[in-house]
Amino acid sequence: MTAPLDLELISLTKRYGDALAVDAISHGFKSGVYACLLGPSGCGKSSTLRMIAGHEGVSDGAIVLDGREVTHLPPAKRGTAMMFQNYALFPHLSVRDNVAFSLRMAGIDRATRHKRANEMLELVEMSAMAERKPDQLSGGQQQRVALARALITRPQVLLLDEPLSALDPFLRIRMRSELKRLQRELGITFIHVTHGQDEALALADEIIVMNNAKIEQAGSARDIFNKPKTAFVARFLGGHNVLKLPQGQIALRNDAIQVTAQGAGRMDGRVIGVEYQGAHVTLTALVAGDQEATALVPDHQFIETPKDLGEVIGLTWDDQNAHLVSA
Ligand code: ADP
Ligand code: MG
Repeated sequence: MTAPLDLELISLTKRYGDALAVDAISHGFKSGVYACLLGPSGCGKSSTLRMIAGHEGVSDGAIVLDGREVTHLPPAKRGTAMMFQNYALFPHLSVRDNVAFSLRMAGIDRATRHKRANEMLELVEMSAMAERKPDQLSGGQQQRVALARALITRPQVLLLDEPLSALDPFLRIRMRSELKRLQRELGITFIHVTHGQDEALALADEIIVMNNAKIEQAGSARDIFNKPKTAFVARFLGGHNVLKLPQGQIALRNDAIQVTAQGAGRMDGRVIGVEYQGAHVTLTALVAGDQEATALVPDHQFIETPKDLGEVIGLTWDDQNAHLVSA
C-alpha cells in the first residue's frame, strides 16, 4: 500500500525577472518521509523550499498540502514550518521565549506557551538551557533551539534549508542523526535542502536531485545511487564512472570495476593515480577516448597484485552493474 500524498508540487515555477529559478517542477512527497532536495548551488533548491513555506511568491503552478491548495496562503496558515540556515534567533529573548515566539504571535496565553515550549525543549534536549540567551549557546545548541521553534507550531511538513552547513564536521554528523531521530519520533514530513550527497544519502528516504531549475531524478537513496538515470546524477553523487562506450554512455560504480591483467578485461588503461585509503586503494586509469576510469580495489587484493603509475592494466565489470545514462 502506498502512503497518502502529503504535499504535492504541480508545475511549480519561480521567476526572478527574466531568470527562471524553478522550471515547472512536479513532485508528490508522501506523508511522513524524510526527503532531501539535492543539487549544486544555484539549481533552485532554496527557491523551491521558500515557495513551499510561503516565504516566496509562486510565479506559476500550485502547492497542495493534504488535499488543500496552499499556493497563496501566508506561511502561518499552511501547516508548514521552516528552519533557516542562519537559525535567525532573537538575541534579546531567552531560549524559551524564542521557542514560544510564534505562539505569542498567535495570541496564545503565557502558561500554555511555556508548557508547549518546555515540551519542545525537552524533545531537542535543551531543557537545561531554557533561561539562556542565544549568544550563550554553541552553534549546535542554537540549532536545536531553532528546530524547537519551528516544531512548536506542530507543522505537517518541516522545511530545512541547509540545516547542517554552519556546523563543524563532527557536529554535523551528530546533528544529522538527531534530525533523523526527531523525524522518526514525530512522524512528520521533513524536506531538507542540501548540496551534500553524503548528507542526502545518509538521511533521506527519498532524494530529489535538482539541476538547472528542474528535477533530474527522484527516488529512494539506494535507487538513485544504484541506478542514476543521467550522467549528471551519476557525477554529482560521486563514486561513479561515467564512460562513453561504442554502445552508449554508461554509469558504473567505482566499486563495480575489477582490475585484471592487461588484455584480460573489457578495456585496458594506463594507471595515472594510486591512492591508499585504508580499506581500499583508489586506482585511476586513462582509458580509450582520453577518459578516466576509477576503480576501488580492496586493500588485501592490491597488496597481492600491486599496480604502479604508468602500468597498463585491464578493467572489467558485470553487465548488470552498468547503467545506460542520458547525457
Ligand atoms: P540553490 O538554493 O539551489 O542554491 P536558489 O533557489 O537560491 O538555488 O537560486 C536559484 C537561482 O535563482 C540562482 O540563479 C539564484 O541566483 C537566483 N535567485 C535566488 N534568489 C533570488 C532573488 N531573490 N532574486 C533574484 N535571483 C534570485
Ligand atoms: Mg540555497
